[in-house]
Amino acid sequence: MSNDDESWLRVKARLRAEVGDDVFSSWFARMDLEQLADGVVRLSVPTRFLKSWIQSHYAERVLACWQAEQEQVGRIELIVRSAVLKTTAQPKPKAELMAASDGASRFSNGAGAGRPMSAGDPGVHEALGGSPLDARLTFDSFVVGRSNTLAQAAARQVAAARRGDPVMFNPLYIHAGVGLGKTHLLQAITWAGNAANERKVLYLTAEKFMYGFVSALRTQTALAFKEALRGIGVLVIDDLQFLQGKSTQAEFCHTLNALIDAGRQVVIASDRPPSELESLDDRVRSRLAGGLVVEMGTLGEELRFEILKARVVSARSHHPSFDVPLPVLAYIAKTVTHNGRDLEGALNRLLAHNKLTGQSVTLEMAEREVRDLIRPQEPKRVKIEDIQRIVARQYNVSRSDLLSSRRTANVVRPRQVAMYLAKTLTLRSLPEIGRRFGGRDHTTVLHAVRKIEGLVGNDMALAEEIEILKRQLQE
Ligand code: ADP
Ligand code: MG
Repeated sequence: MSNDDESWLRVKARLRAEVGDDVFSSWFARMDLEQLADGVVRLSVPTRFLKSWIQSHYAERVLACWQAEQEQVGRIELIVRSAVLKTTAQPKPKAELMAASDGASRFSNGAGAGRPMSAGDPGVHEALGGSPLDARLTFDSFVVGRSNTLAQAAARQVAAARRGDPVMFNPLYIHAGVGLGKTHLLQAITWAGNAANERKVLYLTAEKFMYGFVSALRTQTALAFKEALRGIGVLVIDDLQFLQGKSTQAEFCHTLNALIDAGRQVVIASDRPPSELESLDDRVRSRLAGGLVVEMGTLGEELRFEILKARVVSARSHHPSFDVPLPVLAYIAKTVTHNGRDLEGALNRLLAHNKLTGQSVTLEMAEREVRDLIRPQEPKRVKIEDIQRIVARQYNVSRSDLLSSRRTANVVRPRQVAMYLAKTLTLRSLPEIGRRFGGRDHTTVLHAVRKIEGLVGNDMALAEEIEILKRQLQE
């Protein structure tokens, strides 16, 4: 046993003495030491819930126990162990798995040593830096409702396709606001596709994609990287809105074209439609829009209720004594409207409370525990296109009038109103808005916003018009 492992045993003994057997076995029994280096202790736990609970309640205590053993320890890092690289079929030794999650460095090592790369080689997947997958995010645990039927069906179709099948929609582009199930669906495709063993499915966050490329370019092995990428049957990219940088985008564009032209499936998720990916150039945007673009709407109350029920069932497999009466689930489904993450958070709190106090879950407990997750109705994501459409309709001009350079009074005012609404109802920047209004300068947008702001103070009729427009856009 190494010194560090021995220290870890002593740290655990200390913890147990400090918090007591019950608390220790609830929270720390499944915590493992992964690594101790440069004063940073890296510990792993099997679930995200444990991680966040320990982080918010015991981080300092764990650190103090470590420092009592080894005073050079300065920081604790918690990771979730169940996160496995989906592209590796066999379980791997822990140390290697850790290194593999650092895709870029593995890549430069492997390629630098002149190791041949092929898609079937797990080294390639490490090299490509496939992002970690959460074992719980599968089709089985994905609840289908009105807002996500189409997206789910398309995702299933993609996952079930076989090598050589004609590609039905490429890319499949799924967009939705935060916490509405994009990552869940993308990882479900990855799990299912790889389990079928038909086509290699590589799941990457946009960040991983950038990271891989940047380091590949730096080590001048871009060619090998591209070759390896092209060995992938299905490329899944999550959170595309984070893709940044000119050279990354150029590479993304090449990759996208190469894959699509070769009949490989590409699946993308983003928080906005292709037309609103401001930083990408027009060709990429139109290529993205050329496949199937599906939006997932907010989770309706019924769907929230079903998701909660499914969650309780799965929680019970680890905590058989955990039970949540249906009225409590109904209450949460009704009041916690924000998104899937808050639903998960709400249940986790009930579970924690139940575990720690031994009290069974009641409506009163739920009301107390989830109070701060209850928010006013989440405002709808407003799109610039919708603003233009609705403003044009209201003022009886055409959308192209709004985008045109015409300066007659009957289009100038509606255009200013639309720009004002775009600034106040979306998170888009002034230059972005300008671009979406026929390529105008940001100062023009700023002028319009100020103009309308100035007018609504005095002009009741205009203020009311704007209120009506806002209401139409947000309902
Ligand atoms: P996004 O990537 O869109 O921000 P996630 O996929 O991370 O959202 O979903 C947030 C949480 O909500 C996850 O825990 C996910 O499992 C859950 N969730 C969202 N939609 C569903 C659904 N239809 N069925 C089951 N769980 C869902
Ligand atoms: Mg996500």
